[in-house]
Amino acid sequence: MNCPSCKLELHKITAGGLSVFVCQGGCGGLWFGRLEVLKLDGQSLGNGKRLLNVPRAEGVRFFRNVEAICPYCKTTLLLRHFFSREQEVEVCQCAKCSGFWVDSGELARIIEPSFATEEKQKQAVSSYFKVIFDQRIAKMNLANVDIMESGRSIVKIFLFLCPEKFQPLKTSLQQKFFSNL
Ligand SMILES: [Zn+2]
Ligand SMILES: [Zn+2]
Repeated sequence: MNCPSCKLELHKITAGGLSVFVCQGGCGGLWFGRLEVLKLDGQSLGNGKRLLNVPRAEGVRFFRNVEAICPYCKTTLLLRHFFSREQEVEVCQCAKCSGFWVDSGELARIIEPSFATEEKQKQAVSSYFKVIFDQRIAKMNLANVDIMESGRSIVKIFLFLCPEKFQPLKTSLQQKFFSNL
């Protein structure tokens, strides 16, 4: 499979029992196939954080206004669930195979201990997740059953990527998204 944006061949990385395809040396985007998404249930926080720890090309980001084709189906266009310019985040899904393409943007940078002091780092990660969860996912049409299911999968993907030291964040997000869904 190739990156829908950079066209580089995706590398398979195994984390938490999931095989995820990563655009290593390019945009750092991640492909979660449908069966891998099913394995997200019951994962511990941070099981997927190594997926963010890959070399990227300087300044290469995922597309914004270009249509991209599913790396798996190769014929179907990816549907964009949302993006955030500030956080450089992009989440798309294939309507045919249900796989997710995720560019988690600045997350890899801000979770590095060298990013800032502990307190500043916590603030940065907290505001990153606030934008993703409170603004982007909350604005998806969650009344639609299929979209709600996608929203839940996206929450699980981001929690999978988030390192364990941000456990308090996870607890509040989980309560928010899984108690009443
Ligand atoms: Zn790429
Ligand atoms: Zn597909």
